[in-house]
Amino acid sequence: MLFERPAQERACRLGGVNESPNCPRCGYDLSGHVASWERSCPIEGRCSECGLAFAWSDVFAEFLVGPRWSFEHAPEDSPPGAMVGRAIATMLMALRPARMWQSLRLEHEVRVRRLLVLGLAQIALLHGILFVLVWGTPRVFALWSGPFWPFTPGAVLRLALFPYDGVIVIACGAGNVTGLPVWVPLAFGGVSASMPLSMLLLPVTMRRIRVRRVHLLRGFVLGLPMVPLALGVMLATGLFIACEQWLPGTAVWRWTLAGVVLVAMAVLLVWYGYWWRQYLRYYIRMPQPTLTAVVLLVLCGTFVFVSSFVISVWS
Ligand SMILES: [Zn+2]
Repeated sequence: MLFERPAQERACRLGGVNESPNCPRCGYDLSGHVASWERSCPIEGRCSECGLAFAWSDVFAEFLVGPRWSFEHAPEDSPPGAMVGRAIATMLMALRPARMWQSLRLEHEVRVRRLLVLGLAQIALLHGILFVLVWGTPRVFALWSGPFWPFTPGAVLRLALFPYDGVIVIACGAGNVTGLPVWVPLAFGGVSASMPLSMLLLPVTMRRIRVRRVHLLRGFVLGLPMVPLALGVMLATGLFIACEQWLPGTAVWRWTLAGVVLVAMAVLLVWYGYWWRQYLRYYIRMPQPTLTAVVLLVLCGTFVFVSSFVISVWS
């Protein structure tokens, strides 16, 4: 087929190229566009299905080398140490969403197996951190201030839920102890983690931009570091509350403490909105990324907080 085409058209197809180009966002077969080229070939194109604008050179490339930090795109023959390094680099890159989603693009092949490995590794890591905090902190701080929330697995169910129904003990010297129920940082992290899934709840938007599901999976896995970030922010504010007794116990101070906690939570939610806006803007390349991010944040926030509150009351 290729050799039946005019020479100038063949010249458009740069060496070692993808014979059946597809839209990076929706997967639509673009060979019809290519067949329509008679005398010249454009540098940029637009998918007739989803409206994505792209560079034809990116679409034709059989294999685009992903960014150097990307765990998904580490070479197959990388030693284990290099793979771990890439995984850490990918998790840290999540703290710079604008840079992350400008360097990793729709055109970079989605490697589902790698994404699943990275996703499971992050969930296992978070589980380990929570286990150590819930199991360990009551014991560590009991040395100072007596047993607080001892680990008493009264029922098989409670043991099965451990450490997710537990409390992390935060202490600031003897007697100044506070507890952070694990469901609270998980609910906050869950608001961010559920954003790509919640996009499926916007059928009109999804029909218009027709994102392949693997791109949502990539967003989910690369957004998972937002969960330990929420945990870190809450442990910091918890430490602040634990130290309350060292502060002058006036009403002004009490309001200041409440204000610090509220501001920390608000900053976290605004950060999530910003994070997903970068994903929608630079990665998905959708129109109105800010508005969509706000709508998704409200959807996810309402669902996650109502459901985790109900679960925590019920259990
Ligand atoms: Zn498309």
